[in-house]
Amino acid sequence: MNAVDLIRKKRNGLALTEAELQWLIQSYVEGGVPDYQMSAFLMACYFRGMSMEETLTFTRLMVHSGEVIDLTEIPGVKVDKHSTGGVGDKVSLILAPIVAACGVPVPMISGRGLGHTGGTLDKLESIPGFRTNLTVAEFKNIIREINVVMIGQTREITPADKKMYALRDVTATIECYPLIAGSILSKKIAEGIDALVLDIKCGRGAFMQSDDQALGLAELLVQVGGNFGKETIAFISDMNQPLGIAIGNWLEVVESVECLRGTRGAEDGSKDLMEVTYVLSGAMLMLGRKAGSIEEGIAIAKQAIKDGSAYTKFLQLVHAQNGDTHAIENLERYPISNHVLEVRAEEGGYVTAIDSLELGLTSITLGAGRLRVDDRIDPKAGIVLKQKVGDRVNDYEPLALFYTDREDVLERAKERIKKAFSIGVVQSPPSPLISALVTKQGVQKWKL
Ligand code: URA
Repeated sequence: MNAVDLIRKKRNGLALTEAELQWLIQSYVEGGVPDYQMSAFLMACYFRGMSMEETLTFTRLMVHSGEVIDLTEIPGVKVDKHSTGGVGDKVSLILAPIVAACGVPVPMISGRGLGHTGGTLDKLESIPGFRTNLTVAEFKNIIREINVVMIGQTREITPADKKMYALRDVTATIECYPLIAGSILSKKIAEGIDALVLDIKCGRGAFMQSDDQALGLAELLVQVGGNFGKETIAFISDMNQPLGIAIGNWLEVVESVECLRGTRGAEDGSKDLMEVTYVLSGAMLMLGRKAGSIEEGIAIAKQAIKDGSAYTKFLQLVHAQNGDTHAIENLERYPISNHVLEVRAEEGGYVTAIDSLELGLTSITLGAGRLRVDDRIDPKAGIVLKQKVGDRVNDYEPLALFYTDREDVLERAKERIKKAFSIGVVQSPPSPLISALVTKQGVQKWKL
């Protein structure tokens, strides 16, 4: 077999056989197929898609590109959550400790930033010393001891996704259903879960821009997850403005820690973040048999924030993965960017929209994301919103702060952030944060 024939076959809209996909994935992991050929194949998939059978085979081969962790010795239903990616989406950092504190084991394999969206791994690695590249033995020991562990794809676990994910990030081949299915579900199946909650982000700052696209992806993921014997449900959630207030790795850790401590998230700019976190946590607790319904799960999750057990669990997680808990306990001691600038409204009114795509892209120029596979992230860089959609602002009131060490981007970033805020005279009604729940029974409108 050779890569050129397989690229041509996919380019011409034909389905690859299991043997062909196996050869391609394995050769890519082993280095026999270079990045430039895999890039061409991924772009052909983007335009031509995959049949259902091909998607299932592709996902299975991605899972078996590495080790599949067996967690049957860990008691309880193991449940995880995955988001398709958004701007300011730091839900995993808050949700994993909540759910683990409530007694459901959460073995989590996450990814790095993709395109304009942030990644859980980059956020965790902004905590000094935090290790995300654990061995399988370390992964198992930590989940056994504290009920939660958060790592990335490694050379042992889903190595095909480790390489392909980074390549898709920089070749504009993210928004392709079968590639997303193979990427997300391979990580989740390989980590040894029993059930999965998906957060399909929809809107300006997401890869899925319309409800139809988001629903199509949700249905595919629920079907493929179910096919592998994992009970899978998916929520469609809004990504038309950033979630919470912080965009950028350490800035998002700070917001998450404050939410875990219960000092933010009630009636401030992080309210939307906590609303999504509670619904997804509630669903995980239901799938993990600790609650009879999502509503009951939400109440249990809220209690874990109130009684401090979720925050304690987060500290245990940081400690177990070699992170510096003093940095978490003393957030103010973390280094600050050389430049911290304010962006102000030119005139007063109501914030009617905040362009999350533009803010995600701008945060990359500040140093918070990558444009090339080998770009280094500046963990301090990013944006903190001072206003959210619906807020009233006065003339010259601050809209946002931004943080960077890069002097050459200051003026342009200021302009882009200001333009990302639309100010009008009429207050816009809030759009629903979560619009639908997709299960194997079908789609239902989401309402609490
Ligand atoms: N998250 C993933 O892990 N993979 C994708 O392809 C998209 C979002």
